[in-house]
Amino acid sequence: MRSRALIGLSLLTIAGPLAAQTAKPVVHVIATGGTISNTGAGDAARKTGDQLVGGLPGIENIATVESEQFTNVASGSITVANWRALATRINELFRTRPDLTGIVVTHGTDTLEETAYFLDLTVGSCHPVIVTGAMRQANAIGADGPANLYDAIVTAASPRAASRGTMVLMNDDVFAARDVQKMHTTRTDAFASPVRGALGSVATNQPVFFRPADRAECEKPAFDLTTLGEFPRVDIVYSYIGADSVPIQAMVDAGAKGLVIAGAGNGAAVSTQSPGLRAARNKNVYVLSESRTGSGIVGGGAGDLNPQKARILLMLALAKTTDRTEVAALIRQLSGSY
Ligand code: ASP
Repeated sequence: MRSRALIGLSLLTIAGPLAAQTAKPVVHVIATGGTISNTGAGDAARKTGDQLVGGLPGIENIATVESEQFTNVASGSITVANWRALATRINELFRTRPDLTGIVVTHGTDTLEETAYFLDLTVGSCHPVIVTGAMRQANAIGADGPANLYDAIVTAASPRAASRGTMVLMNDDVFAARDVQKMHTTRTDAFASPVRGALGSVATNQPVFFRPADRAECEKPAFDLTTLGEFPRVDIVYSYIGADSVPIQAMVDAGAKGLVIAGAGNGAAVSTQSPGLRAARNKNVYVLSESRTGSGIVGGGAGDLNPQKARILLMLALAKTTDRTEVAALIRQLSGSY
């Protein structure tokens, strides 16, 4: 069962002119687990969303915060079915709760950028979704979770965050979900947007954005989940000297309808992978080039999306249409490729 608790005193409930002046924005936190919830005492001892929000003194001066437990797992255990259910839940909340200013999702950092990008493509609302996590567990010295969650709520509560899609808040920085990448194994500044830079920063309880909001049609998701059938299998093929066609063949045999190449340099597969890729294309498998470099634009591929995000875009595009020209157009349009 999902638990839902109102934290702090909602001044919305106080009648009269004072209430109108002092009502706080309402922010809904959806907790999914990850290091931000970890206490080091095993899966069962993870903190809940209520406990995370309860550990933020003064947050009631920023927003009226409520929380809901969605899952409580390491982010390596998040599934594609979880993504669909989470995006559906967020769409439902924005549709049925006009009082909400924004939503915060707490998540393990390992796959956080993937969940954030999936939400960016499938949530239809001008209200912000802010995904956050922590590099240090809840009871560590210098735990970063409380500050990240606090700043995520600050951002979700701000009118400045509207019409920008899904964002990621880590270590004072606000990143666009499509741009951000985890780039370090342990440091608290592990997240960066290597090509486009951060979208903004939180300072003294205010988000400041460096670029104007760019979602003119924010009410309309790029992909409407209510019209999409089952997601096809899409795999990532890593390129390295000596890589051959064995994994490619196995992926195609397992039913892959799309392959993203984490290619060397500017998206290049190595020559020993060519027979497998040719055979895949002959079977109508959509092959999309990306780069293993961690930064830069692959022309004709999925732009500056990293392979794990290009895979999400290709999966959604192939769920929408099997027409290859339409898939290519969707990828070009949504990745900003050429
Ligand atoms: N293993 C953790 C996870 O992704 C790492 C983290 O949250 O930082 O759930």
